[in-house]
Amino acid sequence: MVPVRRALRLVIDQKAEIVEADGQRTICSAYLSVPRPAVIRLVRFVHVPRRFRRQVTNTFLFARDEYRCQFCGRRSVDLKPRECLTRDHLVPLSRGGTNDWTNVLTACSTCNTRKGNHLPAECGMHPLQVPVEPHFVHLTWAVRRLTPVQARYIRLFYGADTLRTLQAL
Ligand SMILES: [Zn+2]
Repeated sequence: MVPVRRALRLVIDQKAEIVEADGQRTICSAYLSVPRPAVIRLVRFVHVPRRFRRQVTNTFLFARDEYRCQFCGRRSVDLKPRECLTRDHLVPLSRGGTNDWTNVLTACSTCNTRKGNHLPAECGMHPLQVPVEPHFVHLTWAVRRLTPVQARYIRLFYGADTLRTLQAL
């Protein structure tokens, strides 16, 4: 699962071919016109560096935590105008914490400031849920919805159970 721009790049570089296109929509540039890819197939091995596979972006982090501060429980829509969702480190970076899925969580800016450089036990701030590494498919579903055509491929490659789990989210 990749952004459309990345999918197009792979197709144009002949590293992938389009299996399913998104209806009649095409993407045009001065030089070429390509159907908008919905499902692509890699025609040769494409190396994905480990740091990209493991990277936790705020988009995915906030989606995993359902856009909810993991300390006070408020959702992004409940925040005051000057507050925002931020990334908090359970074990602060300054004390050897990492950016791994199991050490980062969504916190409102107020809770993040209050927690500062403390460990949860030191300031009595414990997250609502223990942070875990989510399944990549779940994240993609949480961030943007799959089309019916893409859902068919999820069923094919990940099974009907996974698809049902995703659709229940
Ligand atoms: Zn909060």
